[in-house]
Amino acid sequence: MNIKELDNNYIANTYQRFDVVFIHGKGSALFDESGKKYIDVGGGIAVNSFGIADEKWEEAVIKQLKTLQHTSNLYYTQPQSKLAELLCKKTGMKKVFFSNSGAEANECAIKAARKYSSDKYGGDRNVIVSLKGSFHGRTITTLSATGQELFHKDFGPFTQGFVFAEANDIADMKNIISENNCCAIIIELIQGEGGLNVLDKEYVSALSKLSKEKDILLIADEVQTGNGRTGRLYCYMNYNIEPDIVTTAKGLGGGLPIGATMFNAKTKGVLNAGSHGSTFGGNPVCAAGALSIIERIDDTLLLDVVKKSEYIFNEFTSAKGVKSVSGIGLMIGIETEKDAKEVVIKCLDRGVAALTAKNKVRLLPALNIPFDELKEAVRIIKEVIEE
Ligand SMILES: *Cc1c(COP(=O)(O)O)cnc(C)c1O
Repeated sequence: MNIKELDNNYIANTYQRFDVVFIHGKGSALFDESGKKYIDVGGGIAVNSFGIADEKWEEAVIKQLKTLQHTSNLYYTQPQSKLAELLCKKTGMKKVFFSNSGAEANECAIKAARKYSSDKYGGDRNVIVSLKGSFHGRTITTLSATGQELFHKDFGPFTQGFVFAEANDIADMKNIISENNCCAIIIELIQGEGGLNVLDKEYVSALSKLSKEKDILLIADEVQTGNGRTGRLYCYMNYNIEPDIVTTAKGLGGGLPIGATMFNAKTKGVLNAGSHGSTFGGNPVCAAGALSIIERIDDTLLLDVVKKSEYIFNEFTSAKGVKSVSGIGLMIGIETEKDAKEVVIKCLDRGVAALTAKNKVRLLPALNIPFDELKEAVRIIKEVIEE
């Protein structure tokens, strides 16, 4: 049996895969079974921050792999502590809990937010406000926190204590807060899976002010927007706010699974011995990879992300067949007159691997995608959109 047949026979049917088997890659180039080259502008859904088989990342990972691959969190290990220090130094956050995925990073944030409130106020001050159109993960609790009806079928009963506010509507948020016993608000500054919806600056400032006044924790889900993606190390930095808890995953490990939940001065003491844990979380190999990624996200790289972003926005904004372009940095959604999925399938045929998000073509290339490859990918995507 070939790989597609094996997969269809033996893998649970949760993915509608594109009709291609990728074998290897280098940088922003992917190669299939026949040796055909594709320019990767999806980055494994914002995961391969420095592309495929990046030498510095590989070196850091392999070195750690050959030294110590795992100990459990019963012991101290070097890469995890160093990564936490670097994240705190670069963000101003104070403490980090490591897990293995975005959903787990959010689970940790949800637990911590409830414990913060329970420690301080007791009782049932445990409702978390999420936004309509949001996506926070696939576990039962993070699905419960996800503001899309589509995900609220078939899997009930869900975790209680989540309510949903209209994005970019501060009056609706105030209303919901006055009617519920809230401990936290969770937001994506750019809704990724929800279709590249960017939150307004005024709305986010008002939200930040409101959360401080009411001592309701502000959780920024930066699983997709984090780690240099938007031209700042974390997207909240574009908004001049300080969330109480920041979660991230995807691009953090550069291709290995690692999630992080970061706490500020107000929340750093909430989790204590026994209140949370993970067997694999902050695994030395994943943490060593993540350390090499975060070390290299500097001002030069971020400026480059901004330049590439401007280039993409300029190319698509007034292009034929394009209705709108949204996003920040290298997290971009292109609303097309044609069906987005059809566009992406045609692009794949012509050697460009892009993504969709709702009705948009979504681009999440490696932060260091070479300009010539980016230009070539943009040319092909425009061609498909226009014809
Ligand atoms: C992808 C994503 C998640 C879930 O991450 P997993 O690693 O798949 O569990 C959560 N929140 C946001 C904003 C995401 O984009």
